[in-house]
Amino acid sequence: MKYVSTRGSAPVLGFSDVVLAGLATDGGLYVPETWPTLTSDLSGSYAELAAKVFAPFIEGDIAQDTMLQLSREAYATFRHPDVVPIVELEPGHHIMELFHGPTLAFKDVALQLLGRLFDHILQARHEKVTIVGATSGDTGSAAIDGVKNCSNINIVILYPNGRVSDVQRKQMTTVDSPNVRTVAIDGTFDDCQDLVKAMFNHAEFRERHNLSAVNSINWARVMAQVVYYIEATRTFGGPIDVTVPTGNFGNVLSGWIAKQMGAPLRHLVVASNQNDILTRFFEKHTMDVTGVHPTLSPSMDIQVSSNFERLLFELNNRDGGLTAEQLRRFRDKGSLVVEPDQYDKWIAPTFRASRASDHDTLATIRSVYEEHGMLIDPHTAVGVKAAREHKEDGVPMLTLATAHPAKFPDAVERATGERPQLPEHLADLFDRPEKTSFLPNDLASVEAFVASNS
Ligand SMILES: *Cc1c(COP(=O)(O)O)cnc(C)c1O
Repeated sequence: MKYVSTRGSAPVLGFSDVVLAGLATDGGLYVPETWPTLTSDLSGSYAELAAKVFAPFIEGDIAQDTMLQLSREAYATFRHPDVVPIVELEPGHHIMELFHGPTLAFKDVALQLLGRLFDHILQARHEKVTIVGATSGDTGSAAIDGVKNCSNINIVILYPNGRVSDVQRKQMTTVDSPNVRTVAIDGTFDDCQDLVKAMFNHAEFRERHNLSAVNSINWARVMAQVVYYIEATRTFGGPIDVTVPTGNFGNVLSGWIAKQMGAPLRHLVVASNQNDILTRFFEKHTMDVTGVHPTLSPSMDIQVSSNFERLLFELNNRDGGLTAEQLRRFRDKGSLVVEPDQYDKWIAPTFRASRASDHDTLATIRSVYEEHGMLIDPHTAVGVKAAREHKEDGVPMLTLATAHPAKFPDAVERATGERPQLPEHLADLFDRPEKTSFLPNDLASVEAFVASNS
């Protein structure tokens, strides 16, 4: 399998190079040259299914038995034997729990695999990298947990001091591995992101320390997430609708790919919080940038959905030049319009959308608790509200639960009066010793820190 950039002018690469590269050199995102057809043999455990789904994407680069072994190791870290169990919420409406991984959010599904893939590829090439990232919470802890046992990777994660939740901070700062460093920056999440961008733009520094990223545009993360959509359709048999709480469009894009591969998925419901750039796009066929508002579902507080570019490339009949031009205009004007024929062909048959305010989110958490005795996290609640609006008789609806309620206990307690308990493997989280470094919002200080830890 070869991969091309959505902006059309970066080199065509194989799977391993795409994983290590992350972003393409023309600023685009890598996608497979063609969408493969799903194999008819979808039997086996979740890890076995994963290896079968990955087979066409890794062909020519990673041996099938290696992939199976990496998948088995990655999904053995999940606490539930089904990895991503499905439970019934109400008649015809089910929930897939994607939060049984080590850090209690769906990002573990991709990052447990990505860490192991990175390490395997680096080992074969006798290379080492330093992963540098900024986090507002979930991504940092999931990335750290995914690489904490990888001998060819050092990781440095910056977070805004005092601005991540206690659970999120503890999950990062209590990992006791020699290759893991966390830094509390005296600043905001945007400051942390700017520091990371500045290090990546500093070519000499970046090359000397072999910097790398594992952000949500990495192809392997999108690929890993395709598997649970296939798992869902194999469970239900016939066509289903899936509702996805969305920020960067990464998760729901994986569902769209599963559909391209032939999985019986009908509608994909995009569920936004108040940061509803995607929902407004699906309503108005225009993508308009506005400011970011902090909400009760912080992992979906985004301004622009970076993975949407992969769908846009398809809308443009895979014309990278056209896509690059359109995105240039979008950056300049803050607005992007798609043509009616593009919308009718690619969007209308598949995508539906809804938004939830914080008030809706709390009301949904409360109603699920009162009606079913189940605690759900605020991101999942944004999904459940959208799913209830779009559910149709005769087609099963599945909402993806993206975080464990104990990861966002304050919102859950506010809605229900009940404080969700951490699962057993994290029960002593608050007693574990923390290790972190404190740095000012200053590039030279952060670069010196990264240099001494790479
Ligand atoms: C990251 C995240 C999301 C959003 O996922 P995208 O791939 O950015 O759409 C939703 N919920 C939780 C809990 C997350 O951590």
